Amino acid sequence: MAAIASLDAFQKEVQIQARLVFYGSEATDEAARAIVEEINRMYNEPQAVVTIAGLPCRVYFVIEYALLQLEESAVLIATNDDFRNNFIRLEKENIITRSFMGFGLGDNAGHWIVSDHLGHSTTAAHEFGHGLGLDHPTRLDFRGTGTPPPSWLREVPWSTPSISGIPQHGRAR
Ligand SMILES: [Zn+2]
Repeated sequence: MAAIASLDAFQKEVQIQARLVFYGSEATDEAARAIVEEINRMYNEPQAVVTIAGLPCRVYFVIEYALLQLEESAVLIATNDDFRNNFIRLEKENIITRSFMGFGLGDNAGHWIVSDHLGHSTTAAHEFGHGLGLDHPTRLDFRGTGTPPPSWLREVPWSTPSISGIPQHGRAR
């Protein structure tokens, strides 16, 4: 995933900006809107804070989308020089029958399938995480931490520490 991080030290904010450029036979405005809403919601809900040079800064994800005609896609992808752009082909199916990003972590191209309930599950946020360079976790149990890694909510057990000493466990979907 290509993204640009910018620091506003005065506002104590870090903004992560990316644009998902959708193309393919399932690339509709409705699908794109739902996918981007899922990603923005899942990455902003934790209200993450990062400390930079001793300064705690809120992290905001601002992910937008654009739609591209299939015929235009090859030229625009080949000549892209904007680090915010990520090219996602949306189709009913693909050869490995699941959504995936490129050929490795951090790639800015993907092939996602609508049967993964994109925008209404955690798949789009998960694939976005791969694009940002996040691998699947080696640690699989986050109970007691209250901080499951955002992209892997459906895969790891987690819980918030409880004042009463009885943590509420969850397995998010
Ligand atoms: Zn994965």
